[in-house]
This record gives sequence, C-alpha cells and structure tokens, in this order.
Amino acid sequence: MMSNEFTNPYDFTGQSIVITGGAGILCREMARALVTCGANIAILDYNLEAAQQVVDNLLSIPATGKAIAVKANVLENVSIQAAVEAVLVEFGQIDGLINGAGGNKSEATTSPDKTFFDLPQDALRWVFDLNLLGTIIPSQIIGKHMALRKEGVILNVSSMNAFRPLTRIPAYSAAKAGVSNFTQWLAVHMAQEYSSRIRVNAIAPGFFITEQNRFLLTDPGTGELTRRGQSIIDHTPMGRFGSPEDLNGTVLWLLSPASAFITGIVVPVDGGFSAFSGV
Ligand code: NAD
Repeated sequence: MMSNEFTNPYDFTGQSIVITGGAGILCREMARALVTCGANIAILDYNLEAAQQVVDNLLSIPATGKAIAVKANVLENVSIQAAVEAVLVEFGQIDGLINGAGGNKSEATTSPDKTFFDLPQDALRWVFDLNLLGTIIPSQIIGKHMALRKEGVILNVSSMNAFRPLTRIPAYSAAKAGVSNFTQWLAVHMAQEYSSRIRVNAIAPGFFITEQNRFLLTDPGTGELTRRGQSIIDHTPMGRFGSPEDLNGTVLWLLSPASAFITGIVVPVDGGFSAFSGV
C-alpha cells in the first residue's frame, strides 16, 4: 500500500465501478458516495428510466467521477455481457462490482391468509433467482474480466436473515444465506485460482425501509409501524431503522485498499441487531 493510500484510502479517482440494481434505494446512495470519492460509476438496472434519473442526479453533484446508466437484467447472461461491453467502451476497465440487485416479493411471504404450504413455486423461484443467480451471473462475467486483469473487487449484498432466518420470508432468507456462502466460495476461488488481488466480500444490511419491505414494516393506511416493524426496532440496540448513508463507510472500506487483506467476509451494518439476544 502506498503512503497516500493510508492518508486517503477512499480516493477512487480513475477507478470504475459497476453497480447492479443501482437505481434502487440503497445502491443509488452507494453510487453517490463513490462518485463523490472520484469513481466512475455504471448503474446497471433493468429499469433504465430510473437508472438514468440516478445518473442525472450523480452528474449534478460536485464530483469528479463520471456516471452512466445501462439497461441490464442480472438474470440474463447476454444482457450483462452487452452492458459490460458498453461500460468498457466508456471507462476502459472495471475495477469493482457491487451486486446490488435483489429483493423479496409479497407472493413469497407468508401471512395469515397465505401459509408456507401455499407459497407458489414461481414466486419462490423468482426470489431465489434474483438474489442468488442475480449475484452469480454478473460475478461470472465481470469476474472473468477481473481474472484477466488479475485485480478487482466484488461486493455482494447479503442480509441479516442470512445469519438467522427471519419469520415469513423463507425464500429470501435462504437465498441471502446462499449469497453469503457464495461470497466465501468466490473469495477463495478467485484468490487461489487467479490473483490475491481479487477480493470478494459482502455487506449484510440490517433494516432499512425500502420498497421491498415497506408492506411488512409499516401500515399502508396510517404509515405507523406494524408489530413486525416495532419488533425490529425493539431488537435493534440503536433503536432505529438504518438510512442508506449508514452503509457508505463499510462499502467504501470494502472496495478500497484499506481492506486489501480482507476477503470472504460478510459485514453486518445493522445498529447492533445481530449482536442482541433480545434480553
Ligand atoms: P430496491 O428495490 O430499492 O432496488 C433494487 C433495484 O434492483 C431496483 O432498481 C430494480 O429495478 C433492480 N432490479 C430488480 N431486478 C433486477 C434485474 N433482474 N436486473 C437488474 N436490475 C434489477 O432495493 P433495496 O432495498 O435498495 O435493496 C438493495 C439490495 O439490498 C438488495 O439486494 C436487497 O435484497 C438488499 N437488502 C435490503 C435491505 C433493506 O432493508 N432494504 C436489507 C438487507 C438487504
């Protein structure tokens, strides 16, 4: 590590980072933090309009990094391949990948009128595919580019429920456990087979109110916390939901040379939720 990396490890000038699902609530904030630190950002999302809006916002803040929006579906090899080619034309290389696309859906969530036994297979498969395959496929395509260059950083997005499953969301919990497991697998594989300069880690966000979980945590009529929402707050020692900026420090750290000897870990960013036994 060079000395300026000690004093300014989060200077990403000249580096380009691809963020899948980058139009989403959490990932657009990661993009803002990174572009502010000088990175060139490619927002890959299947919602191109939302991705373009994020890019327009990024370009309006005082930052040295560039930003582009590219339409891509993380479940389609050809789509990611085409997106990567577009990024390479623009930025010349890819230094980092954040596998941010993911989520749950109400059809794969148990409720008083929908038991576990009734959850439809297509909804379960949708959740598995988006979270697990949607992490693996971009890692294959961009990981290959990193293997050729013998350097790069991959950051996956796992979840609290990967450590211990949360009630009501069996597929999402199992899929995120798969993401954590895959993070360890790929970290070992890349270091052993290609380069110790390719690192793979994950963050496990605690509870952040976003589109995927709003229906579980707040009452759509009154906006008040549901029993589940209140229970989460009661089990979070810091006593609040996270806000997207809370992820920035960990994201920058895991993408930067400050974590040069760290690979294969999953870092909770959860206000203490995973440390608290409830008593
Ligand atoms: P979000 O729903 O706001 O954003 C997800 C983005 O992914 C959207 O822009 C969507 O268009 C995009 N996307 C969905 N399917 C896609 C596909 N097939 N190809 C390309 N793009 C696709 O989600 P978020 O809450 O910001 O979550 C981001 C990540 O963080 C997800 O992996 C989620 O599972 C994880 N996470 C969220 C929380 C939370 O509390 N919100 C907690 C833990 C983990």
